[in-house]
Amino acid sequence: MPGTCGSDVKWYASLGGLVIDSSELALDDEGLSLKNELLRLAQRMPKAELHLHIEGTLEPEMAFRLAKRNGVRLHYADVDSLRAAYAFNNLQEFLDVYYTGMSVLLKEEDFYDLTWAYLQRVHQDNVVHVEIFFDSQGHLERGIPLNVQIGGIRRALKDGKQQLGISSKLILSFLRHLSEEHAFETLDLAEPFLDQLDGFGLDSSEMGHPPGKFARVFARCKDLGFRITAHAGEEGPADYVSQALDLLQVDRIDHGNHSLDDAALVQRLTTEGKTLTVCPLSNLKLCVVKAMDQHPLLSMLKRGLKATVNSDDPAYFGGYVNDNYRALIEHLPVTREDLYQLAQNSFDGAWVSEEEKAKHLHDLNRVFG
Ligand SMILES: [Zn+2]
Repeated sequence: MPGTCGSDVKWYASLGGLVIDSSELALDDEGLSLKNELLRLAQRMPKAELHLHIEGTLEPEMAFRLAKRNGVRLHYADVDSLRAAYAFNNLQEFLDVYYTGMSVLLKEEDFYDLTWAYLQRVHQDNVVHVEIFFDSQGHLERGIPLNVQIGGIRRALKDGKQQLGISSKLILSFLRHLSEEHAFETLDLAEPFLDQLDGFGLDSSEMGHPPGKFARVFARCKDLGFRITAHAGEEGPADYVSQALDLLQVDRIDHGNHSLDDAALVQRLTTEGKTLTVCPLSNLKLCVVKAMDQHPLLSMLKRGLKATVNSDDPAYFGGYVNDNYRALIEHLPVTREDLYQLAQNSFDGAWVSEEEKAKHLHDLNRVFG
């Protein structure tokens, strides 16, 4: 039965703490001690998160709080039953729950509260820079205008910088299951807000919606001077990654797992230094990998790919960015050097100045001694 791999994923976000439980892992005392040391290092090191959908940070508790505030009726009795509904088996089932959750986001303060909660949460993970996607079309079709969406998110990002020291970028992501014409209409609506955006992305269900479908709208985004990123090679084939490079002129690739199926493409991504924003717990939950010990992240690093670790939709996939690190450390032979490389890649792939990158690397080096 397809998809069952994701149905019993461990809920890393609920584990917390700095200690790995040895009961499920065949480790001797020395092995356990090493993994716990790596876990503490991963938690302490500064890092950027480059693949995060703000709507995917909607925790069930907040969904109920906003529903009550806005008089929206959720079709779930309580927080526990909503959390149980997060046990989906594939990308399409996830997207169905995800878009239902959006229904509680109606006012500027809702977008503020959602974004502010995320920033406070990742501050605990020593995330110092975030690049956030928002699915504007999913809100526009519910009658929520762009000024409400962008206003709330931007205000929280500003407070995040002032109160938490977290810098940020905001990326408007087009929904690929909709038409390119729809994306053009959204871009027209976004014109008064272009100075508040830092880039454009492409997300939602990948199969049957290749990057080439959006070549013209991304050409316009490029002409307007924006950076571009696109989900590719998550469920889709390596060819979708090639299309994103050739037809969209992307600055980085979101996911990119299936790049590994094409040796020439791997060589190209390495030569061009393209960042891959990889999301391990998301991959497990959506059955892109069957088990965490089969995740290709270390293989990507060994081949010279600039892979990074990200949480994608953390409320739905079992954890925030450090929970992703924890899952990797538990199940793969991650080294100290790998952790350094992953954090370095996260800053290298960020859309920030060379001066800011140098500052982040300086702080990273201090942690690694
Ligand atoms: Zn994503």
